[in-house]
Parts: sequence; C-alpha cells; structure tokens
Amino acid sequence: MTGAIVIGADPFACGALAFAGVTPIGVVDPDAPAAAARLGLLHPGVLFEPYPVALAEAHPAAIVGGAGLVVDVSGDEAARLAANDACRVAGVPFTTAAVGEKGALVLSAPGHADGCWRCAGVSAPAGQMPAPLGPLAAALAVAAGLAGTAGVLEVDAATLAVARRAVPPLPDCAACAAQSS
Ligand SMILES: [Zn+2]
Repeated sequence: MTGAIVIGADPFACGALAFAGVTPIGVVDPDAPAAAARLGLLHPGVLFEPYPVALAEAHPAAIVGGAGLVVDVSGDEAARLAANDACRVAGVPFTTAAVGEKGALVLSAPGHADGCWRCAGVSAPAGQMPAPLGPLAAALAVAAGLAGTAGVLEVDAATLAVARRAVPPLPDCAACAAQSS
C-alpha cells in the first residue's frame, strides 16, 4: 500500500492504520499538526503528514490522489462527500464511518465495481462520533478498507452485531459516472 489518508484527526483510525504497518499516513484536519505530532510519538516508525485544511474547502483531488486508501472519520457530511467524489474520480479505495442513535454505519468501496457513499442511499447523522461507537466505527472502517471489503456494514448500537449489505453502483450516480476506468 502506498500510504493512507485519514479525514479527521481520529486517534483510533490513525492508530489502527499505524499498527497495520501503513506509512505514510496523511491526516486531514484543521488540528492535524498537533495530532500528527502526538501520533508520531506513539508510532515512531510511521510518518504522519498533516494537512491542516477542511477537505471540502481544499483541493480534495490533490490530497487523495495516489493514496492506497482513504478513510473518512470526520463525522462531517461535506468532507465525506468531497472525499467520496475525489476518490471515485481517482480510483482510490474509500471507506467512511458514520454514527447515529441506532448504531454505526461504515461504507467501504474498494474499487470501481462497487457503489459509493452516494449510491448507498443512507443519510448520515451530523456531528462528531460519540464513544463508544465512534472508536469501533473508526477501527471497522480501517479494517474493512485494508481487507478490501465492499458494501455497507451496519452496527447495531444495542447488540454490536454487524450486518453487511452490498452497494451496487447506481446508474444515475454522478460520482460513479465521473470515475476514470
Ligand atoms: Zn456512486
């Protein structure tokens, strides 16, 4: 893998990637410099590259292009959609995690044959990911991305049972239509 990009300075997602031996790890968050410095102390063998920007207001294609995997754990729908669309166009595997009252939702789209976040047709709750589901969803997003799992993983908040469903690309999805082949 040629490194990963994490949208959101999430210690669980970054730590899971670091423990899997992924380096470099780009961290996209206005607080990225401080987070990257902390993570670098915890994982001295891993290079953390800070991108202190809001992805939706930056140039997403320049940031995600060439990454081996992009993981969105920002909890921000604008950032999620920007990352989703840029990853589709660039052909970069993408996972995103969202948490609501009923549980967590992880979309993993490892390749062109899979549908994207827009195709999944789910509405994401806004706001930061709360404990204890947030760390679980972040780790699940990383694990699904590294394993190349395709589809939506739904985590029941009460039982923590995980169910997977396939997400085929929708014919009228603009993001999937724009992807390079
Ligand atoms: Zn799509």
